[in-house]
Amino acid sequence: MNLEILQNELSGTIRTVPDFPKPGIQFKDITTLINNAKAFNMLMEFLEERYKKNDLDFIAGIESRGFIFGAALATRLKKGFVPIRKKGKLPFTSVAEKYVLEYGFDEVEIHIDAFRDIQKAKVLLIDDLIATGGTAEASVKLINSIGGNCVEACFLLRLLDFDAVDKIKQYTKVFTILDI
Ligand code: AMP
Repeated sequence: MNLEILQNELSGTIRTVPDFPKPGIQFKDITTLINNAKAFNMLMEFLEERYKKNDLDFIAGIESRGFIFGAALATRLKKGFVPIRKKGKLPFTSVAEKYVLEYGFDEVEIHIDAFRDIQKAKVLLIDDLIATGGTAEASVKLINSIGGNCVEACFLLRLLDFDAVDKIKQYTKVFTILDI
């Protein structure tokens, strides 16, 4: 499937909610994409096509919307899924990275054994949106810090108000579907 066809299909399915969760934030709501069967399936079909030749070992998704796309893609590609979670949510021994968010500070964690016994596991990182890039940068660092190799970071939406993609490109390749 052609990227332009996908972009045309998806662009009308994302809802902007002003002043959520704080005044001044234009929140990009993807629930209106995932409850649209045609749009959600076109997106997953496109991602499956794009990544099936990458010989990935794992898909890592960032809490919480990255779990939706990451887990769906993992089952399509028949790969394992690894959650990157907010601090204090993972039950087993984890490593952590702090970062600055568009609306605050946070910390993400990954289980130390997330890539099982696979050396230099090839990992695709996925999330719904990249704004400042803080969450993604911390997540790529986590993947690499436990012995993985983040081969690409994929985002459905890129907020052009922030110049984040170049920052992430220092660590890995970046692919975004809709730039807004
Ligand atoms: P950042 O670390 O600034 O790139 O922020 C990315 C993370 O915060 C992603 O997990 C997004 O889901 C969430 N996020 C940041 N800004 C927005 C926004 N305007 N709309 C929806 N989600 C956002």
